[in-house]
Amino acid sequence: MSAPASAQEIKGTHPAAIPVVIAVPKEQVSGEYRVATVPEVVQKLTKAGHVVRIEHDAGTGAYYPDALYTSAGATIVSGRAGLFSGAKIVLCVQPLTAADVDQLAEGAIVVGFMNPARNLDTIARMRDRKVTAFGLEFVPRITRAQSMDALSSQATAGGYVAAVLGADNCPKFLPMLTTAAGTIRPATVLILGAGVAGLMAIATAKRLGALVEAYDVRRAAGEQVRSLGAKFLELEINAEGQGGYARELTPEEKGKEQQMVSAAVAKADIVITTAAIPGRKAPVLVTKETVATMKPGAVIIDMAAESGGNCELTQVGKTIREHGVMIIGPQNLPARVPFHSSQMYAKNLQSFLSLLIDKDGVLVTEFTDEILTASLLVHAGTVVHKPTADLLNGGKP
Ligand code: NAD
Repeated sequence: MSAPASAQEIKGTHPAAIPVVIAVPKEQVSGEYRVATVPEVVQKLTKAGHVVRIEHDAGTGAYYPDALYTSAGATIVSGRAGLFSGAKIVLCVQPLTAADVDQLAEGAIVVGFMNPARNLDTIARMRDRKVTAFGLEFVPRITRAQSMDALSSQATAGGYVAAVLGADNCPKFLPMLTTAAGTIRPATVLILGAGVAGLMAIATAKRLGALVEAYDVRRAAGEQVRSLGAKFLELEINAEGQGGYARELTPEEKGKEQQMVSAAVAKADIVITTAAIPGRKAPVLVTKETVATMKPGAVIIDMAAESGGNCELTQVGKTIREHGVMIIGPQNLPARVPFHSSQMYAKNLQSFLSLLIDKDGVLVTEFTDEILTASLLVHAGTVVHKPTADLLNGGKP
């Protein structure tokens, strides 16, 4: 039996609603500095009559100290047991562990990135304990869900960091300079994959003064690239697939792409790669032979490192040097700007909660909204997300 919210915790005044207890744990994954909610959002939730519990130090890594949450009406709790006791909703960035799930009551709802293929233990435990889970990465990319699109908000943060990281490791100035000591030519930055992260990397590199070129297999990306003042590299391929995402290229298309990309890579000072195909290994765009043709001192930031890498030589989580080229395979770039990436993530969750808690402050019991249906992974003892259920039954990702 779970503990109800204490009288001290209940500060809201809504007459119709039973306060919903919302718990936010401190993230446990190494290098994860983000937090799932920020004081500004907590204030809105507590004002609406909900009870918000924050684990001690949960926001410290993102520069939101406990005191700010307390001022916003939250209760700071030390230890998972007290945090989760009676919690109806748990908000997280990274998936919870199976041990965390053991401390949740039946019917509790967890919302965050679930990365189910890599966290099958947690998913199975949620199923067995009849905990409900929504994966933010499955929120459909429809106009109404834009404010809940955590993939986009975090890709925006990642794209910004990638451009800054490239500039930081480049031995050259990015802007053109005309000085008494001579004229400096601008650096060339090449962005491969002009989705959400790529467009932010383009905008950031442009602001730093570089000459920016970009390429994407979706022809629609061309207009967006050009509107940011960058050059779009054209190829006679349009690989726009389902839902506005890219499809995998045919072997012939891959050959054409390699040829054009290799020529552009050889001229670049910084290459930022972001190419991804949902549910598949990232496509290789920069081969080891192409790296050998690059300028000494050139830098590759491979944003696809965690899903296999767009450069053949990338090692995830490592920085290596090959042929005088630095190849960085970063992990969790959004966590390097944790203040703002947490703020954006928290706003995404606030929007998502508006589907789970109705305007009278009551938790909905039917998840009929298409955004809820699409992002529901586990409910009432069943793994409802088919690809995840298949994986649990021994299928391959
Ligand atoms: P993503 O992270 O899956 O992929 C990044 C980019 O890599 C994509 O632009 C893709 O086209 C590109 N790519 C894949 N294979 C490639 C290859 N071989 N060579 C070069 N580039 C390759 O994508 P994303 O950034 O999450 O978004 C992709 C699409 O979704 C875009 O069209 C974006 O505008 C759209 N989107 C729509 C909404 C919305 O309507 N609410 C929100 C976010 C994104």
